[in-house]
Amino acid sequence: MVQKRISEAKEGKAEEPNLLQKILSMTVQERKDFWDKQFMKCIRCYGCIDVCPVRREEPEELSLSKWIEKAKVPPPYPAFHLLRAYQVWDTCILCGECEETCPAGIPLKTLQDITQFFSPEDVFELVPGLDKEIKDVILRFVDSKRTQFRRVTYGL
Ligand code: SF4
Ligand code: SF4
Repeated sequence: MVQKRISEAKEGKAEEPNLLQKILSMTVQERKDFWDKQFMKCIRCYGCIDVCPVRREEPEELSLSKWIEKAKVPPPYPAFHLLRAYQVWDTCILCGECEETCPAGIPLKTLQDITQFFSPEDVFELVPGLDKEIKDVILRFVDSKRTQFRRVTYGL
C-alpha cells in the first residue's frame, strides 16, 4: 500500500507520502542511515524534555542518567531519543511541541507517532540500532503499562 502510494506520488497522481510513510517504505539499513543522520544533529539541550506538557519524573528504569553517558554530544543514539520517547509512552498527547522546538530539527513527533502506534518490536525495526539490554527494559516497561494503552497499534 505504501509502495503504491509512493509510486502514485512519483507519477503526480497522489499526495507526497509523509515522513512516516517514507520510513515504512525504507529498508532497515536506509532507516538506520536516516535516523543516524537525524540524531547526530542532537546538541543534548534537553529542550524536548523541558517543553513536553505531559512530562513527569523519569521512570527509574528508563532514566537517562542510568543509560546515557554524561556530557557526550551527541548523546548515544537511538538510545537517548527512544528512552526519552518511552518515558512518556503512556502520557504523550502527540502535540508535536518537542519537534517544533527542537533546535536541530529532528523529527521527534514522527518518532512519538512510531512509538505510539507500533509495538516496541516494530519500533526497534523502524528505528534500528538499539542495544538489546535497553530493548529489554523498554519491552518490560511497555508491558507494565499495556493495560493503560489507548491507541490502535499497527504492525509492519
Ligand atoms: S530538543 Fe532536539 S537537540 Fe535538544 S535534546 Fe532534544 S532532540 Fe536533542
Ligand atoms: S508530542 Fe508527546 S513527547 Fe512530544 S511534546 Fe507532545 S506530549 Fe511531549
